[in-house]
Amino acid sequence: MAKNPMETEETNRLTQEEEEEDDDENFKEAWTEDENEEDGGDNDDDLEFRCLFCDSNYSSCDALFEHCRLTHFFDFNGIRKELGLDFYGSFKLINYVRSQVADNRCWSCGVHCQSKQDLQSHLHQSFDAKDVKLILDDDKYLNPFMQEDSLLYSFGGDEEDEDDCNASFDKEEIVKDFGNVCIDDDDTVEDIELNAETYNKDGKTVTGVSNGHLNLTCSSNGITDNGSDYGQSVRSLESHPKDKQSRVYVADIVGKDIKKVNDSYFGSYSSFGIHRDMISDKIRTDAYRQALLKNPSLLNGAVVMDVGCGTGILSLFAAQAGASRVISIEASEKMATVATQIAKDNGLWRSKTDDEGNKNCTGVIEVVHTMVENLDKSIQIQPHSVDILVSEWMGYCLLYESMLNSVLFARDRWLKPGGAMLPDTATIFVAGFGKGGTSLPFWENVYGFNMSSIGKEVVEDAAKFPVIDIINHHDLVTNAAVLQSFDLATMKPDEVDFTATAELEAKFDNMDHKATSCFGVVLWFDTGFTSRFCKETPTVLSTSPYTPKTHWSQTILTFREAVSVASSKFAAEESADVGTNACPASKIILRISIARATQHRCIDISLETAGVSPDGRKCSWPAQIFNLT
Ligand code: SAH
Repeated sequence: MAKNPMETEETNRLTQEEEEEDDDENFKEAWTEDENEEDGGDNDDDLEFRCLFCDSNYSSCDALFEHCRLTHFFDFNGIRKELGLDFYGSFKLINYVRSQVADNRCWSCGVHCQSKQDLQSHLHQSFDAKDVKLILDDDKYLNPFMQEDSLLYSFGGDEEDEDDCNASFDKEEIVKDFGNVCIDDDDTVEDIELNAETYNKDGKTVTGVSNGHLNLTCSSNGITDNGSDYGQSVRSLESHPKDKQSRVYVADIVGKDIKKVNDSYFGSYSSFGIHRDMISDKIRTDAYRQALLKNPSLLNGAVVMDVGCGTGILSLFAAQAGASRVISIEASEKMATVATQIAKDNGLWRSKTDDEGNKNCTGVIEVVHTMVENLDKSIQIQPHSVDILVSEWMGYCLLYESMLNSVLFARDRWLKPGGAMLPDTATIFVAGFGKGGTSLPFWENVYGFNMSSIGKEVVEDAAKFPVIDIINHHDLVTNAAVLQSFDLATMKPDEVDFTATAELEAKFDNMDHKATSCFGVVLWFDTGFTSRFCKETPTVLSTSPYTPKTHWSQTILTFREAVSVASSKFAAEESADVGTNACPASKIILRISIARATQHRCIDISLETAGVSPDGRKCSWPAQIFNLT
């Protein structure tokens, strides 16, 4: 997957042919109808709420909390009151309790039990308010512990009926709390903006959320709207005063609207333009095609599940490669319909009966319209019966869009033991980039005039947002290092949030031991279809600056201040600060965390940087937080 669907849709608006626009219009109507049909509008009637302690499900939060109180001595509302938990505190409490229970641990006293049953009998009413409050200070519990946990966006439903100002917690505080998710050490969020759109800053794509979604942008200094070239988005920000109501609106959305984010996300995937962009990315599509078509011993006669089939392109490859059954799952209703039609048009549709009611199996592909997490509600697939699980789930910086968890969910439920994951590895790389990776050279010479004051400001602003753009490998000033590797066949779902370190060394080949400036780091990823499953033709899909570009580009994180780097042979001044031209760093040590943000499907990236001089002195810079929304 995928471009930022929102961004692509924006582009498509300008480029799509009329015919496609008509289709989109029709789809929008269909989607609205479907939403109303399936959800009964906004009502949560068909939601299920999973107990925090046992396997029972309830159709309302109240019923669930009553059950927890009576059966498991866990009085959610009482505890909220006693601890004075605001919305986020309560959100964290749910995730904390779920995480403890999964580990057979008592949420209140921490005792570890031998089994789930032992834990059930151990649970007790008393708890130490101070201890629990301390635990809930940890922002890691803002990450939903359980996939699609409806409780997280419904438990506060009561407050909806109340006057916002009289709600049992101060929602303005919540917004501040949310900001703190992105904060480390001495960083503070000073600004939270609404309705920013994906926009083009100095020719680079700066991520924001369009389509009228929530956009919370965290930065250490707040967003500047001081005349830098933000174009449309600044105007839109200025037209939305940061009044209390807006902030309350933000808080409401953040906590409760995972479902709405999903609807909008899948809605974005119903535009044909985004699928055209993905299919036209030859590096991407050829990698999957090669993995599927050039590994006959894997594909022949196999049962394949395609998670997020879109147009069905990967399913078609699988069918062409000789799969005996392809189960193609797609959450966008429009695309599920389209994929079905395409399978039929290509004689690959697996129909059980024809129009006259005769059995007529001509093909192998069956398309199911559902989120894979809800597949059981649509079709019965024997658990652990699938030979190959294929999916193109990768977002910007690999993990944006959070689709990997859906793939892992499908793996754990339907893949046979030892079954193949395509791809089966994913690796995030990092390298430092020099001036050529910034817009400084452009502004230094504009028809012979020096406009570098603009360039300077643009680079300063770039330190507040991840920028998705192509970096030329000639502009890298350090080696590339592996930041994190994932084995998709074995990784656990919560490993998608990680902290890792990497060490970068100044690239010597083109530097003659001179100092050069490192303006920041660039992240990219490879996914592997390795010989573990692809015995005949292993393949790598790379989004590196060293290989032809893909629609994922690279993710650029700009330092607040450039760090001077040089080889260890550089004659550094002993008294000078590390990272300055007088004492360039010979090594840059990075600590980078990537974690799912509170905003569903977004990620937060924190970047800590230290420079080491040739004589071993170290200097570190304050952490930077980048929110990929
Ligand atoms: N496989 C296609 C499309 C990839 S884009 C191709 O390679 O061209 C990812 C697709 O997955 C989108 O169409 C999106 O709607 C779908 N998707 C994302 N999460 C999903 C989920 N949890 N369940 C089902 N479909 C999902």
